[in-house]
Amino acid sequence: MSEEKKNENAYQAKNAWTEMGEEERKEVFAFNENYANFLTENKTEREFASAAIAELEAAGFKNIEQYESLKKGDKVYVANRSRALMAAVIGEKDLKEGLKIIGSHIDSPRLDLKPNPLYEDGEMAMFKTHYYGGVKKYQWVTMPLALHGVVVKDDGSQIKISIGEKEDEPVFFISDVLPHLGKKQMKKSMSEGISGEQLNVVVGSIPVADEDAKDKIKTAVLNHLKSEYDFKEEDFISADLQIVPAFKTRDAGFDRGLLAGYGHDDRVCSYTALEAILDVKEPQYTSVVLLMDREEVGSMGSTGMQSHFFEDQVANLVDLYYNQYSELLVRKVMQNSRVLSADVNAAYDPDFAEVYAKHNSAYLGKGIVISKYTGARGKAGASEASAEFMGEIRGLFNNAGVIWQTAELGKIDEGGGGTIAQFLANYNMDVVDCGPAVLSMHSPYEVVSKADVYHTYLAYNVFLEK
Ligand code: MN
Ligand code: MN
Repeated sequence: MSEEKKNENAYQAKNAWTEMGEEERKEVFAFNENYANFLTENKTEREFASAAIAELEAAGFKNIEQYESLKKGDKVYVANRSRALMAAVIGEKDLKEGLKIIGSHIDSPRLDLKPNPLYEDGEMAMFKTHYYGGVKKYQWVTMPLALHGVVVKDDGSQIKISIGEKEDEPVFFISDVLPHLGKKQMKKSMSEGISGEQLNVVVGSIPVADEDAKDKIKTAVLNHLKSEYDFKEEDFISADLQIVPAFKTRDAGFDRGLLAGYGHDDRVCSYTALEAILDVKEPQYTSVVLLMDREEVGSMGSTGMQSHFFEDQVANLVDLYYNQYSELLVRKVMQNSRVLSADVNAAYDPDFAEVYAKHNSAYLGKGIVISKYTGARGKAGASEASAEFMGEIRGLFNNAGVIWQTAELGKIDEGGGGTIAQFLANYNMDVVDCGPAVLSMHSPYEVVSKADVYHTYLAYNVFLEK
């Protein structure tokens, strides 16, 4: 037998499962059980934000309005319209030395209800939807769906809705044509096989008894909504109602090493970032976690990363920390800050090997992925991390025993994507993209490796702490 020689100068990303001992394996599974439950219970940005606030308050974080001044060790959070959130722990060093920021997003691709969603056709009542974010429309038909969100009445009162998650609750669904009559459909391209206007959700089928009623099934649904939730048709106009997959996040594979569920992008980074700041002890720099909304549609809007929300909050921190506001101080805090743009990368899929660049792909189980740049076609749209910052992060992870890998998103000419990195980089901060790999990204049933989830948490925690 010949002994295989290892070249000590060669680089090979490690598999986190191979590297870990029995103790760590137990921690990995326990951490992921909590994550899976959190993901099952929080399928919208509103649900995520309110669950995060509950966890933060339980850990001693207080709403920024409760502080008259801020000092080392203080824990603070600010919510933005129930859909986005910033949490911070004031660090050892002076605030103007900069922040350590982890920025992620809590919105996921889904189907939103149209402003006038309800109609009747073919002896069924249906909801019209408008998809949100990058979805492959054909993936959303013939599976159990749930309805989540909030309805705001014209007096300002709110009705929270969640139907389809509990065993005894009904689910909703979108139909597809039977193969016997699907000859023409099957010849269409996959992006045309199911159109946006065909993503109509079936919500009822029993007509009202009233002989004279027009649209008897629609009427029955309206009666039900009135008696169960006390809202009428016009109230749909002031509502954030989302259709999401009705299934739970579950273990996948004989060995239970993977987690399959809806919305890993980007709640896997948001959850691990949240846990990382909850567990931070005595951070050197002020730790900040940003849980943002609207990333899947370009980060615009008041709750997206392009809004002034974050700047406003840094101004608030400066004001409370120095007991004086100065724009120069705000700018110093900004330009000295360092950011992990916490978002997912695409996991190599052997069934679609042709779109991945083998030597620069992320693999399930090889730890958190550091991406020097995102973008598409010649790095367009990429903020790109500097060699210096890459070196700093690599060193930090190596010293802390974090398992990590590096990747681009697919082959150069296949496409690409972006994250919130560029918007934070605009503040003249050092930013790098950093999060776990996801298989079947943007599908209703995304998959991550439990080992990667855990090492993402470790990575975020050490980044905040040091
Ligand atoms: Mn994302
Ligand atoms: Mn995404």
